[in-house]
Amino acid sequence: MTEFGFIEQICQLFAPLPDQGFEGIGDDCAVLPLAGGEALVFTTDLLTEGVHFLRHATTARELGGKSLAVNLSDVAAMGVKPVATMLSIALPRDATQQWALEFMEGYRELSECFGTPLVGGDTTRSESGITINVTAIGRGALSHLKRRRDARPGDTIFVAGELGASGAGLREILAGRFDTPLAAVHRNPKPQVAEGIWFGEHPEVHAMMDLSDGLASDLGHILELSHAGAEIDLEHIPVAAGADLKTAACGGEDYKLLLTADAASSERLAAEFRERFGTPLYPIGRITRGEGLTWLRNGRPEVLDWRGFEHY
Ligand code: ADP
Ligand code: MG
Repeated sequence: MTEFGFIEQICQLFAPLPDQGFEGIGDDCAVLPLAGGEALVFTTDLLTEGVHFLRHATTARELGGKSLAVNLSDVAAMGVKPVATMLSIALPRDATQQWALEFMEGYRELSECFGTPLVGGDTTRSESGITINVTAIGRGALSHLKRRRDARPGDTIFVAGELGASGAGLREILAGRFDTPLAAVHRNPKPQVAEGIWFGEHPEVHAMMDLSDGLASDLGHILELSHAGAEIDLEHIPVAAGADLKTAACGGEDYKLLLTADAASSERLAAEFRERFGTPLYPIGRITRGEGLTWLRNGRPEVLDWRGFEHY
């Protein structure tokens, strides 16, 4: 069974239960609308040793930061501000106290940077391997929330940064080269928190998500939920230095925001983004009335068997 097949079965199993006002499974965060036009959002991510990280290929401090960063990225992807987190960790005997404290230092550093207090969690022993689970909570105006289902035909598709550095870094790590700049990018993702909040404040932005599994796979979620198709111009995908086009399109863990915006406002949006953040917002294609993702090279369809990223 695939990961997404399992999630689909979970959705069906729980559909008859009361929703208590929550928007259900399927977006970067679960949403709970509050009185007064506000909403809370919730997300959780699991990192397991050997699947999401290799202990010898990362420092404990970096892993602490990354565990938090990937969750803050999911809150940012909803267009609102992360306000707190919870951390659960299972430690095997061979993880030293020193390791655990350094992990927490890394987690604390990023918590301070984004103003997100750690408000709870759980700690336990593991028979084998380290397992880390972080939950992040966000808060903002209900009207600022960006969902995967809201892309509209004609929308311009943007990515808010260059792609492929993390995937290229992963390849170097797997080849035993840990001390390269790209490997460091893979271990130290930078969640686009300020950018996500900024997009939330812009009604011309329709759908948004963060890129964790790679453009080729993640854009598919927006298309499926929005009942739309997309054309992506291969020559417009911003490829990070040291990466190649395929890695930029299919590599995972870039944690850049992927969004769709009203075409008539898209030039202004990109100009304002550059003014605010000093970096480009890259238009890479458009939402169509069709179905699925079409790759175009200089305007001509190209059949590519490109899929998303798989873990270690
Ligand atoms: P992301 O990559 O943004 O973290 P995922 O692809 O992991 O999102 O998950 C897709 C959706 O499925 C999310 O809404 C998530 O909350 C939900 N989901 C994933 N696993 C489970 C699970 N075991 N039980 C309930 N919901 C799940
Ligand atoms: Mg996400």
